[in-house]
Amino acid sequence: MDKKALIIIDYTNDFVADAGSLTCGKPAQEIEHNIMQLTKEFIKNQDFIVFAIDVHDENDPYHPETKLFPPHNIRHTKGRDLYGGLQNLYNSVKNDSTVQWIDKTRYSAFAGTDLEIKLNERGINELHLIGVCTDICVLHTAVDAYNKGYKLVIHQKAVASFNEAGHEWALSHFKNTLGAEIR
Ligand code: ZN
Repeated sequence: MDKKALIIIDYTNDFVADAGSLTCGKPAQEIEHNIMQLTKEFIKNQDFIVFAIDVHDENDPYHPETKLFPPHNIRHTKGRDLYGGLQNLYNSVKNDSTVQWIDKTRYSAFAGTDLEIKLNERGINELHLIGVCTDICVLHTAVDAYNKGYKLVIHQKAVASFNEAGHEWALSHFKNTLGAEIR
């Protein structure tokens, strides 16, 4: 039987709120309800849940994103808090053994983190991806998951991007190239 985990990617103020420094805006705000529903469903079923959240230091001269994007998800800022109701939901379950927060510094939740170790320890083989941006951090996480042999489910009503064309392209890539189930 498949053992599954929910990976919630970068659903923070900086990526979602109107005032966020790298916001996906409306499309990301519109999926809040679905993000909440899926998270509650995984909590209820006691499946593993990972909050894989970007973290940066301001003006880091060694980080490639410093040249590519405005500062975002800076350590200890409000911009890095989870958006909307998700922060409170996280606070209410953060001590559960089934809930894990993972700081990531690159697009993929696997890059430089112990995500794979955490998944292996629990015998998880099926990853459900939600969050933002569909064509950046969700995409890079999905590609790494594919290469590592995980089964992938992408919840299309719980991912979003500032780039509609990129969003659509990524959804077709998940399905046709990574063999993901689009749900
Ligand atoms: Zn970043």
